[in-house]
Amino acid sequence: MPEALGGLDGLPRARLGHYPTPLEAMPNLAAALGRGGVFYVKRDDCTGLAFGGNKVRQLEFYLGEARAQGADTVLITGAVQSNFVRTAAAAAARLGMDCHVQLEERVAKPDPEYRNSGNVLLDRMLGATLHSYAQGEDEAGADRRLHEIADELAAAGRKPYVIPLAPGHKPLGALGYVDAAREILAQLEDRGLRIDEVVVASGSGATHAGLLFGLRALGSAIRVTGICVRRAAGIQRDRIVARCAEIADLLGTASVVDPEDVVTADDWLAPGYGQLNAPTIRAIDLAARCEALILDPVYTGKVLAGAIRRAEESGPDRNILFIHTGGAPAAFAYSAALTEALAGLRAKG
Ligand SMILES: *Cc1c(COP(=O)(O)O)cnc(C)c1O
Repeated sequence: MPEALGGLDGLPRARLGHYPTPLEAMPNLAAALGRGGVFYVKRDDCTGLAFGGNKVRQLEFYLGEARAQGADTVLITGAVQSNFVRTAAAAAARLGMDCHVQLEERVAKPDPEYRNSGNVLLDRMLGATLHSYAQGEDEAGADRRLHEIADELAAAGRKPYVIPLAPGHKPLGALGYVDAAREILAQLEDRGLRIDEVVVASGSGATHAGLLFGLRALGSAIRVTGICVRRAAGIQRDRIVARCAEIADLLGTASVVDPEDVVTADDWLAPGYGQLNAPTIRAIDLAARCEALILDPVYTGKVLAGAIRRAEESGPDRNILFIHTGGAPAAFAYSAALTEALAGLRAKG
């Protein structure tokens, strides 16, 4: 089996998380949906490190490379309420490095709560230096500006490491989810459980592509459905296909993912990145009331909405695994919108 994962175990890695994360059933949610079968959750909200989430697994490989290069300062760019940025700030703190974060204005008309609470508050607490980037949807521009900041730091004698997130960079973060696929398959085997389908967020695609690649490399045919949180399904699908090829390159193995096997769904994206819709608020409400799982409006609320639809559409024998990728701190930045939406939902009964 190790050969199937190529050079994974030989790559530099900084251990940051608590593993394995729990794999649990959600019996109350399954009952609320009035469906037989089993609805599981992989608790990657419990990876530890400053509220956890999927970025902990991803950052182990970036910070491993940073450390191997002798870096003393980490730079990252992301949305204002980015969990990646917050987790990078946490990882840098743990490894004794400085952290500079660039926050991109991707959400229209943000209120003071959005700009200061949730992850932004945590970025500040974790000691990161904050920079703002005004053009929200300009990945290349944001990347260029971040490299300029890195150049300024280098000129001042620092050893900066820019966490490379724009497409075309080697997808080190996805390796965290190649490894998570191995962890999930071991849990299923140990406990004699069967999963037919995994439902996971598809944002940058590191999580989606890594899981899909890891499962196929290890010989598993479990269906992987990626729920789009930022881009339309067709564009996202191409992105995942490209990411999978890059993972194979990085590991020095043959590509194991057939492009036909890449499934993306964008039915829960509208009205857009970081914006609530009715199925998402229903999913957030059900997860909290039935299972005490705290979801966020940007990612996990939309993904569980997608998983619920898959559960409702499929027969009672189909066992579905929802990947809880964390993100709860962002809920505080959306508290006005969430309060109103929950009140509306409960008024309807
Ligand atoms: C970043 C993030 C995602 C998306 O993961 P990608 O690997 O970027 O696709 C999903 N959920 C949460 C909570 C996140 O922070």
